[in-house]
Amino acid sequence: MSTHRETTLPVARWRNLGIIAHVDAGKTTLTERLLYKTGTIHRTGEVHDGATTTDHMELERERGITIGAAAVRANWTPKGGQAHRLTLIDTPGHIDFAIEVERSLRVLDGAVTVFSGVAGVQPQSETVWHQARRHGVPLMAFVNKMDRPGADFDAVVAQMRERLGANPWVVARPVIEGDHMTGLIDLVAERTWTYDDAGEATVREWDDAERAVHAGARAELVAAVADRDDVLAEAWLADEAIDAAALSAALRRGTLARLGSPVLPGSAFRNVGIEPLLDAFVAYLPSPVDRPTVVAHTDDGDVQVAPDAEGPLAALVFKVVNQSHGPLAFLRIYSGRLRVGDAVWRSGTGRVQRVGRLAVVRAEETEAVDMAEAGDIVAIAGWKDVATGETLADPHREWRLETIQAQPAVLSWRLSPEKSADLLKLGNGLARLAQEDPSFRVGTDAETGDTLVWGMGELHLEVMVERLRREWGVQVRTGSPRVAYQETPAKASGPIEGKLAKQTGGSGQFARVVLSLTPTGDDGNRFEDRSTGGVIPKAFQSAVEKGALAALVEGPRGYPVVGAAIVVLDGQAHAVDSSEMSFHRAAQIAVRSALEATGTVLLEPVMRVSVSAPGSAVGDVLGDLQRRGGSIVNLTDGQERTEIEADVPLAHLEGYSTALRSLSQGRATATVAFHAYRPAMTQDAARRSA
Ligand code: GDP
Repeated sequence: MSTHRETTLPVARWRNLGIIAHVDAGKTTLTERLLYKTGTIHRTGEVHDGATTTDHMELERERGITIGAAAVRANWTPKGGQAHRLTLIDTPGHIDFAIEVERSLRVLDGAVTVFSGVAGVQPQSETVWHQARRHGVPLMAFVNKMDRPGADFDAVVAQMRERLGANPWVVARPVIEGDHMTGLIDLVAERTWTYDDAGEATVREWDDAERAVHAGARAELVAAVADRDDVLAEAWLADEAIDAAALSAALRRGTLARLGSPVLPGSAFRNVGIEPLLDAFVAYLPSPVDRPTVVAHTDDGDVQVAPDAEGPLAALVFKVVNQSHGPLAFLRIYSGRLRVGDAVWRSGTGRVQRVGRLAVVRAEETEAVDMAEAGDIVAIAGWKDVATGETLADPHREWRLETIQAQPAVLSWRLSPEKSADLLKLGNGLARLAQEDPSFRVGTDAETGDTLVWGMGELHLEVMVERLRREWGVQVRTGSPRVAYQETPAKASGPIEGKLAKQTGGSGQFARVVLSLTPTGDDGNRFEDRSTGGVIPKAFQSAVEKGALAALVEGPRGYPVVGAAIVVLDGQAHAVDSSEMSFHRAAQIAVRSALEATGTVLLEPVMRVSVSAPGSAVGDVLGDLQRRGGSIVNLTDGQERTEIEADVPLAHLEGYSTALRSLSQGRATATVAFHAYRPAMTQDAARRSA
């Protein structure tokens, strides 16, 4: 069996890491430079050329935003050190793609956050930083764009403290000449990197004079780390000299324990500070075996899954990318081994399926591999119906890993092809997009037969429409955006009868179902059959359940019904005239009547809007949020900017970013994310119009 060079490296030398950032901080450029310096690619392209590697979709290239999280593999050997294997997991910065960030955070072991040295800590990086903390991911930071005039490394470090509540450990400082960064002072290894105009580095150990100059900064770092690490503290208190190895080991322990975050400066654009960053990944970020166990659900309760290649197989599909030759499903293996030819259980289908092809992505190429094991991120090729969030497991255990929570699709558009001949292509394209992205849904308007798509926000839907055009060659027309309302029963119904009795002439139809409908108080729907004595024959019981639930697809106001508990109390069948269809219909009639009896409360999606505004604009921003029916949940006065968090109904957010720009002369920024469904402010919102 041929395995590849890097898989022979021990797992302790693997790093699966994510690069997360605010849009425009330079994540794409940095990823590409990392791949270049590791020899994975042999040329660099600028983002504006559309030639970078991880933005693999044409659309992303044009927009300059990274939508799909691609996992790319590279090797890195620190000078005088051992070879390590890096898997870079690219994550999007735009909040509309929070789900992409969420699922990347599930499968990576550590992350580096990229901040712009000029713009500093921006709201989106703030959101993602907290998201990463919630997932318990060890973090470090790269302060990019240090070649730009006005870049201020210390200011960004201070913002990390103030805005993120982070504990930044400055492990390297920039050498600034003129107004841009030409070198890097490595405070751990006591050496200086100098870069020429082509981004080529030379490294020099400090002489005594330099040691004296940097002594203060190094002592500050040592003190900060010793404050969180007992081993280092002991050496420090005993006045021992702290060498690079001791300091680096303490930094690693502290980072893995999430007590602090190493920070380095650089300029991706000018190739400055890339090698020290790669060294830092190896030195400070966790390997798969440094991470805690994950939980798998089984029919016999939950089990803890340790990162052990000798254990039973458990792998999570975290991303499906459709390519011209079929879907490529990226998965993270948490336990066990996966070999080509293995038969594995799929949670998505509940069936056992053979693994035909395994691949890893290296820059633009995929490379076949025969085997992957715990800690690996690989792709399965050739499974047509594979979907994001599935678990692949040992057929004898059928473990299910926690699935990836999709953001609810709160906004819908009506779609139609410009040319009716494209209808089939449109259908195929939409099906593929939905397979890749659990937050994107496709359906049909029951009344008009039109195609409807739902997504997390306007940008999300715009991107999907663009992809239809580029990847499937379908031009579509879109209707105006519509908010995805829901409805929920207002009270309990008491027993309600649904009866179907057509017994005149030919074969008849007869069924009677009595049920009650009560609010559950949450957002799930439940069904229970409490009828006894065979009043509903066994053969028709599942038709009753299906019919009852089908009636919840559209409530009296025309929206999906949530929070309904249906209990079947009684029923009646006819020896000849009853059928599955008649029970299905009778149950449906009963639920519809019950919903008319209870009446429904209209629920609307409420978004959490986080605004960062300069002091002068705060009054106007608050006034505007209140006019939109927003309630302010948080207001933090910073020195220069005020952070406002408000919950605002999605229906009132149309044109918000334009309004915010004009209110603040473009100086305020906002992020919008789904918060919750709440009773709508206007309960008389009309029935959904066709
Ligand atoms: P992303 O949105 O985070 O992926 O950021 P990109 O990598 O697309 O970079 C956004 C813009 O900033 C592009 O125009 C880049 O050329 C530019 N950029 C990225 N890194 C640097 C840097 O280190 N210095 C300067 N001056 N510009 C940079």
